[in-house]
Amino acid sequence: MAKTTLRFLGAAQNVTGSRYLVEANGSRILVDCGLYQERSFLSRNWDAFPVPPDSLDAILLTHAHLDHCGYLPRLEKLGFRGKVYCTPATSEIGEIAFLDYANIQSEDLALKKKRHDREGRSGPYPEVPLYTEREAIACLPLFAPVGYGKSAVVAEGLEAGFYDAGHILGSAMIRLTIRDGGDSRTIIFSGDIGRRDKPILNDPTVFSEADYVVMESTYGDRVHGDTADIDSLLEEAIVSTVKRQGNIVIPSFAIGRTQEVLYRLNGLFMKQRIPRLLVFIDSPMALRVTEVFERHQELFDAEMTKLEMEGHSPFHLPNLNMTASIEASKAINSVRSGAIIIAGSGMCTGGRIKHHLVSNITRPESTILFVGFQAEGTLGREIVDGAKEVRILGQMYPVRASIKEIEGFSAHADRDELLWWVTGLSKPPRHVFVTHGEPASARSFAEFLGEKTSWAVSVPHYLDAVTLD
Ligand SMILES: [Zn+2]
Repeated sequence: MAKTTLRFLGAAQNVTGSRYLVEANGSRILVDCGLYQERSFLSRNWDAFPVPPDSLDAILLTHAHLDHCGYLPRLEKLGFRGKVYCTPATSEIGEIAFLDYANIQSEDLALKKKRHDREGRSGPYPEVPLYTEREAIACLPLFAPVGYGKSAVVAEGLEAGFYDAGHILGSAMIRLTIRDGGDSRTIIFSGDIGRRDKPILNDPTVFSEADYVVMESTYGDRVHGDTADIDSLLEEAIVSTVKRQGNIVIPSFAIGRTQEVLYRLNGLFMKQRIPRLLVFIDSPMALRVTEVFERHQELFDAEMTKLEMEGHSPFHLPNLNMTASIEASKAINSVRSGAIIIAGSGMCTGGRIKHHLVSNITRPESTILFVGFQAEGTLGREIVDGAKEVRILGQMYPVRASIKEIEGFSAHADRDELLWWVTGLSKPPRHVFVTHGEPASARSFAEFLGEKTSWAVSVPHYLDAVTLD
């Protein structure tokens, strides 16, 4: 077998910046091309790429979350011109995510520049975006879509197959086969591993054979609660708010979470567990992503397909308003009760959610309902942590609304689900590399897996290179 090298250029003892470099048969390919999003690693988005971008033959993407694909426009800008293999839904959601991120960068930079000018100082990174909207558009022609269960020859002797990961729409696990004469090796890249019985999506694919596995461990040291509770908690939050004659405001991510909330509301409406309130999706990005869901009904699981066929699509609720224009968004402010308002961003760091918080957070009759992880240092986290007063759009507001949080919406497998997934292999792989987790989580899962199986398992460090034989 010719020499194959695997280098960990990201998501190694941290969660974001997924990038794995495979060098084999004289070719170089990159699996995932993610942005670093943890504050302490942001500078890596600006560092020179460890190999010349134009020396990469191809890039393979597992899914359209920015920490897996958001660095692609930057690499194209720096000279990468090869093909980008991913599923059709990933290329469509990826396009939306790149453009949105380019916009956020230019808005953030304008604000930052104003602040720095006022304070007479400059920040640690260049005050230009990683890429502009125009530069994001420039990388789109590189996409070469590959459907689930199909594979593509991505370089000489290297073949990549794509399999449903059940994490977000279009998410894939990638099986890379490296051939050298009659000999071959397979590496499975898990991408983000979804959960069994999650609404809308199919369960993650389980593999029976692999020589090497590179797997995520975001929740490698935790077991999620019972997801059956989510509907009851949602029902309780809505019914109690209706009694008080207020609104329910839900900060939500545009990709996946918003659609899952709609799915669950649809179920509660159909069972008449909650009254048919007006539902507003006030996010142009969520609207575009929902259109991608509608275009790819072939990716739905059996329950969702049945709903679509029987005319009960959660995306076509008679009481659903999808808001694109700013005027329509402002008009929601005049609704004082009986509305469910879903808007981004999911951690309240920007976007239209801020206006809905301004209109509702001071009203004891309203509820602010969190359905996703709130990172340290975000407005969402401050509210969840019980701040009595918060700054929104430059002004202080007392928090008088009811604050609720529903956990368990996670799109990531927990420790036991990760173990279930990897032990689907019928014989021990040569090695399992545990990535995409905080150090404690990754190490805890590696230890757990080692104890359960006595397989060779390790947690690589940033820039580690291993030879696969
Ligand atoms: Zn993801």
